Amino acid sequence: MTRPFVFPGLTTRVVFGHGTLAQVPDEVARLGHSRALVLSTPHQEAEAQALAARLGDKAAGVFAGAAMHTPVEVTDQAIAAFRAAGADCVVSLGGGSTTGLGKAIAVRTGADQVVVPTTYAGSEMTDILGETAGGEKTTRRDPAIRPEVVVYDVNLTLTLPIALTVTSALNAIAHAMEGFYAPDRHPVTEALSREAMLAFRNALPALAKDPQDRDARAKALFAAWGCSLTLGHVTMALHHKLAHVLGGSFGLPHAETHAVLLPHTTAYNEPAVGDLLQPIADTFGGTAGAGLWRFAKSVGAPLRLADLGLTETDLDRATEIATKNPYANPRPISREGIRHLLQQAYDGTCPA
Ligand code: NAD
Repeated sequence: MTRPFVFPGLTTRVVFGHGTLAQVPDEVARLGHSRALVLSTPHQEAEAQALAARLGDKAAGVFAGAAMHTPVEVTDQAIAAFRAAGADCVVSLGGGSTTGLGKAIAVRTGADQVVVPTTYAGSEMTDILGETAGGEKTTRRDPAIRPEVVVYDVNLTLTLPIALTVTSALNAIAHAMEGFYAPDRHPVTEALSREAMLAFRNALPALAKDPQDRDARAKALFAAWGCSLTLGHVTMALHHKLAHVLGGSFGLPHAETHAVLLPHTTAYNEPAVGDLLQPIADTFGGTAGAGLWRFAKSVGAPLRLADLGLTETDLDRATEIATKNPYANPRPISREGIRHLLQQAYDGTCPA
């Protein structure tokens, strides 16, 4: 029997293809705006300047100071730049860090956002914003955070380094994985998550051989959209909680941490919801957790938290923080269970 569900509807307009960057000026105009502040990280400033040139008199300037985990000091500087330039919307060109800055501006000023994602992190389709102040990261959900338009241009992903390609894709697969057992899952996220995993499974080995493979890049970006949509429409659990703890309290890098944790968080929940995780087992072979671990290894992903800067003495404190406040998860959260999970992820062993 079909499971009852609530489908909240889709509010973000999506433009997908090769060379779609050319459509950004029309998308700004379509929203009724004429002065866009283009955002990027320092690393992608040249691309942001080129986009501003393309926007011509619809550009209010470039702010190229976006940083990982959306520090509020950077947001304050960007809002000052937004006001000084007389901007009426933002165009965020980059990965999750740049999208985060655009969201932080939008939620404070009401500005509309056009997002041009260049990684697979998947922030663009969500109503989620994580920000850091005084060294502490907090996350909130608010409809005002969700971008109005997302323009996916496959060409912009051709420059994504292969290491970040792999970890960012596994970061995306983590959204799909937790989407399969989310209490508020619905057929749209379920179907897209299945398609997305299949597309990543086919694209990543091809990209590991040739990062310029345009067809594989298109598959991977399509998959990123599906995973982002899932992240933005259902509730996440253990995996995202642990990634948040390791990123927020131990400064571990975002995409790599998701990549290392994914097989282990999947394996932790598999005894409770093996039936719901079956699409992962079917896609990657074996059990879901072990299948993901072997796939990650085959495409050169990092496998050990030890290699990301965590020390073995951090494992007890990470367990403490991760189990302090109760949250919904298919399998009950136990101290011993999480400590064991973290040890396996620290050592990089294939989850049983
Ligand atoms: P990132 O945005 O920090 O990008 C990493 C680096 O890669 C940057 O220097 C960037 O300029 C560069 N880069 C990006 N695309 C490139 C390309 N195509 N070619 C060459 N270089 C490129 O990394 P990320 O993993 O995309 O995002 C991580 C951040 O996003 C974290 O702060 C995380 O919390 C946030 N995030 C938020 C959500 C959400 O829904 N709120 C979802 C996922 C991630």
